[in-house]
Amino acid sequence: MPDAPTSFTSSSPSALTAVEQEILRACRDAKRERASVTLIAVSKTFAADAIEPVIAAGQRVFGENRVQEAKGKWPALMAAHPGLSLHLIGPLQSNKAKEAVALFDAIHSVDRPSLCAALAKEIAAQNRHPQLFVQINTGEEPQKAGIAPGEADAFVAACRKDYGLEISGLMCIPPVDEAPGPHFALTAKIAARNGLANLSMGMSADFATAIQFGATHVRVGSAIFGHR
Ligand SMILES: *Cc1c(COP(=O)(O)O)cnc(C)c1O
Repeated sequence: MPDAPTSFTSSSPSALTAVEQEILRACRDAKRERASVTLIAVSKTFAADAIEPVIAAGQRVFGENRVQEAKGKWPALMAAHPGLSLHLIGPLQSNKAKEAVALFDAIHSVDRPSLCAALAKEIAAQNRHPQLFVQINTGEEPQKAGIAPGEADAFVAACRKDYGLEISGLMCIPPVDEAPGPHFALTAKIAARNGLANLSMGMSADFATAIQFGATHVRVGSAIFGHR
């Protein structure tokens, strides 16, 4: 017998339960309501047969990092399971803004004026309003997407004023080799002074820390679906 494909074995309702329990504990420690944190189950690279059990276990919010991949698997899943919501957490090319606005309920990677223009055009054309997050490159890593912290205030102001975009919050991905806490704190500080209520931060390794620093959206992949 060949090994079963990863997609059958990796995700399990018990992994989702363990993540849920850790979120509950982090909320309790931070004296926050569980309802103030949205768990985004990041299903990138996993096929529909791995996602189905997680939906069956009650998860309703999912994240993908590529438009093409999401287009291939989510329309059918969403048709079969009304009430799901889908978040784009990866970089977005301006020429895919049309597809992204059509498919996603939230976009976490707004990070340049040309993308703002493309999103504004599609939001108006489709009359769909995905929740928008500006990505902050808190570590100022050259290879990473996002706005430098020093340019964040001006960029958020431009999103609002120049493009008429309603920005819901900020997103960050701390450098892999650094403690995440200071990056979460910086993101929270920039959000607070710009009147932004939502913070998309925290992944499998650090979502409890992110909740401590105010995360409203945690993006958890491997802790739910297994290794990619
Ligand atoms: C893949 C990914 C995640 C989830 O990462 P895990 O470590 O598997 O939890 C979160 N955010 C972004 C932007 C990602 O690309």
